[in-house]
Amino acid sequence: MNLHHNSNLTPGKIYLVGVGPGDPELLTLRALRALRSADAVLHDALVSPEILALASPSAIIENVGKRCGAHRMRQHEIHERMIELASAGLTVVRLQGGDPLLFGRAAEEIAAIARAGLECEIIPGVTAASAAAAAAQISLTDRTSAAQVLFLTGHRAGSLQPEIPPPPPGGATIVTYMPGNSYRELADRFRLAGWPRETPCLVISEASTPSQAIIHATLDTIGDCGPLPAPAIFIAGEVARLREGLPSDNLLTCASVRSSS
Ligand code: SAH
Repeated sequence: MNLHHNSNLTPGKIYLVGVGPGDPELLTLRALRALRSADAVLHDALVSPEILALASPSAIIENVGKRCGAHRMRQHEIHERMIELASAGLTVVRLQGGDPLLFGRAAEEIAAIARAGLECEIIPGVTAASAAAAAAQISLTDRTSAAQVLFLTGHRAGSLQPEIPPPPPGGATIVTYMPGNSYRELADRFRLAGWPRETPCLVISEASTPSQAIIHATLDTIGDCGPLPAPAIFIAGEVARLREGLPSDNLLTCASVRSSS
């Protein structure tokens, strides 16, 4: 669709909306309202068709997501498109998986919108860490074993190399987004940082969706497992022990993951 800028138009507002981990039931009411009122929806690859189906039938829907290797749109092109649509008077909803303010490019998008003099509203969403903890039925901050929780990315983000900290007194839960395909490599990084080999850990894949799967292992054994299908998240720390003894729906042992891969 070609848009002609008309200087008499009132520019539209841009919403940065988190849609949660996949299950449409985990959308917030505000996200649903924004989606229904959008004239244009720009979404990431992780946003499911069921969620996109909730947009107004007349809305322009564009996938601006990037998948490994197949870059569809550069970040500055996403900015330009959001700004072009809003400047033409359209209400623009930028949909992102989970919460838009965690491990996304929201900071750059907020700055670009501000530079263009447009109005921006952010609608938070249920982040993958929360959905994964719910799937595994563990508390990330169980008071007997974790006084803190750290969210980090398994990948280098820009010029910053994420560091795994040593286990602190009082215990911690480390949630690693984008853990990659080698759980052995990731577990080795924990071991190098001083985490004991018997530390329990979980990989939760496609949390909140019908394909959800969970591996329960230790830093010592996780290297023999998986990988599970993306998106997946890695949780390490004593809180993962709370998974023991719970019903085994969707729970994979390392052996079953090895034989099915
Ligand atoms: N903003 C998102 C994170 C984007 S980074 C959020 O708040 O959740 C993408 C990473 O999120 C994936 O590589 C994976 O580690 C995690 N992720 C997203 N959806 C997930 C899901 N349904 N189950 C498990 N991990 C998920």
